[in-house]
Amino acid sequence: MLGGRNFHKIIEDELIKASKELTLEYDTSGIHVSEITRCSRLSYFERVDPFVDESSNALQNIFRSSITRMLKGKTKQYTIDDLTIYATTDLIVSNDMIVNLIPVSKLPDYPHPNDLLYANACLFIFEIQSGFIVYFTPDGKFVEFGVSESKRMFEQVVRRARILHLLLKEKKTPVVEPSELCFSCKYYQRCFGQQKESEQLLDILGIGKKK
Ligand code: SF4
Repeated sequence: MLGGRNFHKIIEDELIKASKELTLEYDTSGIHVSEITRCSRLSYFERVDPFVDESSNALQNIFRSSITRMLKGKTKQYTIDDLTIYATTDLIVSNDMIVNLIPVSKLPDYPHPNDLLYANACLFIFEIQSGFIVYFTPDGKFVEFGVSESKRMFEQVVRRARILHLLLKEKKTPVVEPSELCFSCKYYQRCFGQQKESEQLLDILGIGKKK
């Protein structure tokens, strides 16, 4: 607080405003691939009943969207019956290769399954046969993983999109999808608030206490 002005709050509000301007919004008939390659329950909460505190996501969203904008990334849609699935790729090289960039603190040995699902969906939606997932660190190191088309993986994305679409229409909350991502998820308390359920999650993940 300086001279009666709360600069922290002023900066936070501006970041949230900038983040909202960069965020694409879809109605219930439109689902972005990013919403179905992560936990569907999380995506549902984000649309229907998000936490009011949006500051934690603002900087991350600005950073992520800026990369896509600077590289002239594109969003394309795929329509199936009354559902439209959107995919955004960061970079298209010579119209025959897509590249998705992902910031990480440590370079991985293998691509994350969710990133593979996402990149594979981009291949189908952009009708491009070759793609790469590029993980990069703040000090400029990067590693790339090639992705080739898998019809089965794309069918899985379409199936998950249909389910989320239906649940959003019917206002029904998706079931919990326990994974290691739950530990850093902002909705952890909502899903596993009860001690008993938390223990159940640890058991499912195979890291609970031996009884
Ligand atoms: S805590 Fe886990 S199950 Fe619940 S919304 Fe988050 S990622 Fe999904």
